[in-house]
Amino acid sequence: MSRVIRAPEELRDFCDVLRVRQERIGLVPTMGALHEGHLSLIDQAREHGATKVLVTIFVNPLQFGPSEDYTRYPRSLEQDIALCESKRVDAIFAPETDALIPSSHATFVEVTGALTSVLEAVHRPTHFRGVTTIVAKLFSLVGPCTALFGRKDYQQWKIIETMTRELQLPVTIVGCPIVREPDGLALSSRNRYLSAEARKRALRLPQGLLRAQRAYQEGQRVRKELLRIACAEIEQGADAIDYVELVDPNTLQTSPDKLVEAALLCAAVRVDTTRLIDNLLLTSAG
Ligand code: AMP
Repeated sequence: MSRVIRAPEELRDFCDVLRVRQERIGLVPTMGALHEGHLSLIDQAREHGATKVLVTIFVNPLQFGPSEDYTRYPRSLEQDIALCESKRVDAIFAPETDALIPSSHATFVEVTGALTSVLEAVHRPTHFRGVTTIVAKLFSLVGPCTALFGRKDYQQWKIIETMTRELQLPVTIVGCPIVREPDGLALSSRNRYLSAEARKRALRLPQGLLRAQRAYQEGQRVRKELLRIACAEIEQGADAIDYVELVDPNTLQTSPDKLVEAALLCAAVRVDTTRLIDNLLLTSAG
């Protein structure tokens, strides 16, 4: 049985006891509505040496903009607990909203500068400070651990890595591969918003990324041309495109006109009312 923890103080005590027993904690922060992408992070935690795995489930209001889907975001705690148990997760931290964010809450943790001025940050200006505030809080409660994040949210991973390094937090950050449906769509809790018709159109997003990758592997290095190839496909499925960009995988700044190094192709689109993001690292191999 996975232990379900509701109170932040109980989480801190639980983790302290584990460390006294020489256990190594793997932390998997999520917003719940768990799917195979989340579950892969649990496996990755063990592969990275965790002897105890802790999953947190918290729909964080601070990371949603005023016109975003906070109220309709899927919540399925009972099912999530069952999935965690099937993966032998040791504990689930699922606090009430005001246990982490009381109405008086006025402290934010924010990574500033280039990483938080591009891509998602342009379209979701308060998103990342909401994420880093809660993730910093989780790190503070859990203490020394290895924390696993999906590269599906590539920019989030890089920002959390930066926050952790710059605040000198005792946490090792691991970025994990994107898990996809057999047809290529990246798993996301938001996929359940899609109608069958929209789901079909959403597929153009990974297909566009793959087309550009194929061109890259055939020798295409002109940034504009790679973006044109990706967009031509993506446009056929999306109702709106927030961005399709080629960036440096470390700095997330726009790649040069002619690529010389590996580049991250990333995109955000809307299909019906559902916003989807995806990315693919363009490299010569594989
Ligand atoms: P979320 O519940 O959407 O906040 O996601 C929690 C964690 O799961 C984040 O680190 C995400 O990047 C990761 N994640 C979500 N979808 C996927 C996926 N398809 N593959 C790998 N990781 C994912």
